[in-house]
Amino acid sequence: MQSYEFEARVAEVKCRAHGRWTEILGALGVDEKILNKRNQPCPLCGGTDRFQYTDKFGEGNYHCRGCGAGGGLKLLQGIKGWDFGTVLKRIEERVGRVVPLPIRSNEPSPDGMKKLAKRIWNEAKRISEGDEVDRYLRNRGLILTEYPKVLRFHPALGYYDRDAEGKSRKIAEYPAMLACVQGADSGVITLHRTYLKDGRKAFERDAKKVLSAGINGAAVRLFDAADELAIAEGIETALAIHLSTGKPVWSAISAGNMAKLWLPVTVRRVCIYADNDANMEYDGQARAFELARRLKKEQRTSGPRQVEVFVPKHAGTDWADIWRSRVDNVREAA
Ligand SMILES: [Zn+2]
Repeated sequence: MQSYEFEARVAEVKCRAHGRWTEILGALGVDEKILNKRNQPCPLCGGTDRFQYTDKFGEGNYHCRGCGAGGGLKLLQGIKGWDFGTVLKRIEERVGRVVPLPIRSNEPSPDGMKKLAKRIWNEAKRISEGDEVDRYLRNRGLILTEYPKVLRFHPALGYYDRDAEGKSRKIAEYPAMLACVQGADSGVITLHRTYLKDGRKAFERDAKKVLSAGINGAAVRLFDAADELAIAEGIETALAIHLSTGKPVWSAISAGNMAKLWLPVTVRRVCIYADNDANMEYDGQARAFELARRLKKEQRTSGPRQVEVFVPKHAGTDWADIWRSRVDNVREAA
């Protein structure tokens, strides 16, 4: 796993080795002829004069017309045949290594997390007309006569951020929409939080939406699955799909989780409503099709399943945007 600690270690090595690569590479057994900065055969891919070590940016830089450019880390891996971890260790032996202090964390244990989720959930109430969640959803054209039980309104949910020492600290309180995230056994895994302000999201992008990590295929089961089930990424998108199609819908919370989503075997028709992320990195589409492919492959054990994927036409839109513009048009026409 590429942990934060590992990334910090790589950054530290790069920093310490900067400007010292010719010495380091030589000391670790790279032939000094390779480092003489003249055109020559590539030690990685051969040829006659395609390779040159330049150390242009002090990173042990080289370029090769055959296999491309790189720095000291890559060169060492290629020449010595060492894996990345070994390369890192060998360089650390030369330049020294800071032993990182464990990041101090006051995050509760998984058990503590469950208790916390339960406490927050119990502080929240069913959504009712005129409360902050109702206002938020109405603003997005998501008007339901009855809200799903898995959504709740919290009047003042603590908002936390890490201080310079990595300690979690409460910064503010906002009203919030809570969504219960359920695993395969229907047990509550965690809560999804949407902080609200004046009938809108308090933050347009917020990485800390889910209370704890590891939702691993769990979903917000907005409506009971029948033999047909629709899947969308976000909660708002899922509600929009329900309003426009009448289908029972589950929210997968994130694109990454969508691909892993657990579905009951009783579901025979699955409609996946992807976000169009063509303006970004196609995550929405890719994960939706990944889920579709998995569900089709599972047919060997699950029995026949009809699976369809729907993608909005325009880059950067999701089905909640489309629903909202439709509602806005009707409002304007009225
Ligand atoms: Zn090469």
